[in-house]
Amino acid sequence: MKQATTENGKDTNGASKETLNNLKKIAAKNGTPVFVIDHEKIRRNYREFEEALPRVQVYFAVKSNSDPEIVRTLYKEGASFDVASMPEFMIVHENIKNLPAKERQDFIWDKIIYANTIKRIETLKELDRYKPLVTYDNIEELKKIKKYAPHAGLVLRIRVPNTGSMVELSSKFGADAGEAVDLILEAFKRGLVVEGISFHVGSQCNNFENYMQALQLSANIMKEAESRGHKINIIDIGGGFPVKYNNKVKSFKTLAHKLNTEFDRLFPKDIEILAEPGRFMVANAATLVAKIIGKAVRDDKTCYYLDDGVYHTFSGIVFDHCVYPLKAFKPGPLKVSAVFGPTCDAFDTISVAEELPELEIGDLVYAENIGAYSIASSTYFNGFPPAKVVHINK
Ligand SMILES: *Cc1c(COP(=O)(O)O)cnc(C)c1O
Repeated sequence: MKQATTENGKDTNGASKETLNNLKKIAAKNGTPVFVIDHEKIRRNYREFEEALPRVQVYFAVKSNSDPEIVRTLYKEGASFDVASMPEFMIVHENIKNLPAKERQDFIWDKIIYANTIKRIETLKELDRYKPLVTYDNIEELKKIKKYAPHAGLVLRIRVPNTGSMVELSSKFGADAGEAVDLILEAFKRGLVVEGISFHVGSQCNNFENYMQALQLSANIMKEAESRGHKINIIDIGGGFPVKYNNKVKSFKTLAHKLNTEFDRLFPKDIEILAEPGRFMVANAATLVAKIIGKAVRDDKTCYYLDDGVYHTFSGIVFDHCVYPLKAFKPGPLKVSAVFGPTCDAFDTISVAEELPELEIGDLVYAENIGAYSIASSTYFNGFPPAKVVHINK
């Protein structure tokens, strides 16, 4: 039978004894569920991305984890930001409100992209005075932008293959390649300025062909637009950069190498290249510690009830199609168990087949690599609040 810990004191996933002791201490001090964000890991992810893709400016996708402390850490590293709502815009703006007005405006122009192709009219009205970059992918949105945010710079989002990505986005967003040039011309005709082209290959993209095809499509559209008299200055390659949740995930270095080769082959030297990584920056930077609050045996299977579930930090199981293997702090022979969240809904099921040692009420478990699309979509369902957030290595 498999053991939860190995002889060298590391658990099966490689978390060191020191890390585990630290998590236990944090849980003892703060209670559970507790969501522990390691800022050193965020900085490492940012630097790894920058080193691998030197021509690319990072616009961190705030939706993946909108904790203001994360925004602050990435801001200090030199990141720009991708926001998708007025509140997300303000989270970033909070960090820069002490800058003089002129610098603040430059910051907004250079460092924020409002990358939601669908914007409320009220939001456009509010955004206009900040003159931000905004994306669009259809004529109705173009009319709205012209009317309510004429000072915005535009980025056309195109639809690209999302095959083999964990989260598909192409059914909801992106102009077809065939209509792209018309949408660019239409914007200029209305007195707006199209600065760039963007795409998203789907989140947790493990099929690098998606990026290659998207870059080729973008280059074709750019050439065509230029031949019609409009030079495009920005290419925004979106998010999708895969996180090593398991060994089936292909290497980011391989992807970066392919991207760099294509940048040089397809685009002029002076083009600005943006990326909007979300998951890549935060997924491995957070660990959740939860407590067993109930235990039962059903159909000969041990069932554990945690103080956190799919309406809360484990929301990524539903919305992100992600799995978060649960680990116990206790060693012991593993057996297949079911794990549920605390709410009164049977949908609140974390796993029907989790390998755990025999645990008791009051014991702690943890889930690693749970930093992206987790607490960001946590609710207050059934009166249970989101997990407490604790920052380490800030
Ligand atoms: C969600 C999203 C991202 C981030 O995607 P990841 O796969 O987490 O890197 C980037 N850009 C846009 C427009 C998004 O909607």
